[in-house]
Amino acid sequence: MSETIKKAVLERLSTIKGPDLEGDIVSLGLISDVFVSDGRVAFSITVPAERARELEPLRQAAEKVVREVPGVETAMVALTAERAAGSAPAPSAPKASMGAPAKGRATAPEKPGQKPGVPGVKHIIAVASGKGGVGKSTTTANLALAMQANGLKVGVLDADIYGPSVPRLFKVSGRPEPVDPANSRILKPLEGYGVKVMSIGFMVEEDTPMIWRGPMVISALTQMLREVAWGELDVLVVDMPPGTGDAQLTMAQQVPLAGAVIVSTPQDLALIDARKGLNMFKRVDVPVLGIVENMSYFICPDCGGRHDIFGHGGARAEAEKLGAPFLGEVPLDIRIRETSDAGTPIVASEPDGVHAKVYREIAAKVMDEVRQNEEGGQRAAPKIVFE
Ligand code: ADP
Repeated sequence: MSETIKKAVLERLSTIKGPDLEGDIVSLGLISDVFVSDGRVAFSITVPAERARELEPLRQAAEKVVREVPGVETAMVALTAERAAGSAPAPSAPKASMGAPAKGRATAPEKPGQKPGVPGVKHIIAVASGKGGVGKSTTTANLALAMQANGLKVGVLDADIYGPSVPRLFKVSGRPEPVDPANSRILKPLEGYGVKVMSIGFMVEEDTPMIWRGPMVISALTQMLREVAWGELDVLVVDMPPGTGDAQLTMAQQVPLAGAVIVSTPQDLALIDARKGLNMFKRVDVPVLGIVENMSYFICPDCGGRHDIFGHGGARAEAEKLGAPFLGEVPLDIRIRETSDAGTPIVASEPDGVHAKVYREIAAKVMDEVRQNEEGGQRAAPKIVFE
C-alpha cells in the first residue's frame, strides 16, 4: 500500500518544475527518500540554502500535490540545503541520516532577532540538556505549568525527536485536528492542564526509525512552530532533544529563541555536558537564561530529611564560573517522578506543595532573565548630562 502511495507521490511531484523552472524536482534529484506511513507522507527537497525563503512556494506546491494523492492524509515537506550557501543544489538525494553532519545544511547562524517570530507568541524559550535522562522533560513540563501558575499564557512544543515525553507528561494523545477542515494546513494544538501542547510524538509514530526522523526534524519543527494555531501566548517552552549535536544546533538556529534554560544534574559529568549545551547556544547567539540543577538533593520519603547525596551545589558553582545565572535547584523526590510518570506533573497535581513553589520561583527567574535580556538589547544609549 505504502509503495503504491510512494509511486503516486513521485509521479505527482514530477509535475513540479525545478527551482529555475527547468526540469522537474524528481528528475533533478532534489527529492529525498519519501517516507510513507499510515497515510502520512514526508520528504525533503534540496535547495540552495540562500534560496530557501524564495522557494517556499515550491515547498507549498509539492505539499499540495502530495495531499491530493488518494490515500494521503497529511504531507510534511521540508526544504533542506545540503551544500554551503552559494553552491549548486546537491545532485543526489540528501542523506537520510540523523548522524549525517548538518554542516552547510542551514544558512549561516542568524541572530535571534533576525528570525521571523511566531505571530501571537511573545517569547520562545528552549529547555535543553547536554545529555538525556537529567530530567529535561520533567523540568519543561513543570516549568511551563509554573509559568501558567504565575499568570502567563503558556504553550509547550515538544521537539525531542529521540523520545517525545510531552504526550505522557501532559496525558494527551491523538492527532491534532486542522482548524479548518477544508484546509488541513493549520493544526489546533492539544491541551493539557490549560497548557497548549504540540509534540513531535503526535506527528510521528513512536516506532518510526530515527533514520527517517532526522531529516524530517526541521520540517516537523517548522510545522509545529508556524502551522499551529497557538493563539496568544506569553511563552512557548520548547523541549529540545538532549545533547549538543548538529540536530540540536540546527534547531537552535531555526527557532527564534528568546533564550535557553539548561537542565543539569549535580554530577560533574552532567555538568561537562551542560557546559557543551551552554556553548552550543552561545555559538548561535541565543542567550543562556540560566542553569537548573535537577535531582539536586534527596528528600527522604520516610523522615522528610534532606540529603545532599550527589554532591549538590555543583551547578550553582559552575553557573557562577560560566557567568550564567543559576535558576534554582529541584530535589530528587519520588513524588516528582511518580507524578511525571503518571501524566500529572507535580505543579498541576500539587499546586500548593513545596515542589510547585520551587518551580514557580524558577519560572519567575527565567522570565526576569528574558525581560532583562530584552531591555538590555533595546536599552537606549545613556544620556549625557552637562552640569
Ligand atoms: P530527560 O528529558 O532529561 O530525558 P526526564 O524528564 O524524562 O529526563 O526524566 C527522566 C526520569 O527521571 C523520569 O522518570 C522522571 O520522572 C525522573 N525525574 C526527573 N526529574 C526528577 C526529580 N527531580 N526527582 C525524581 N525523579 C525525577
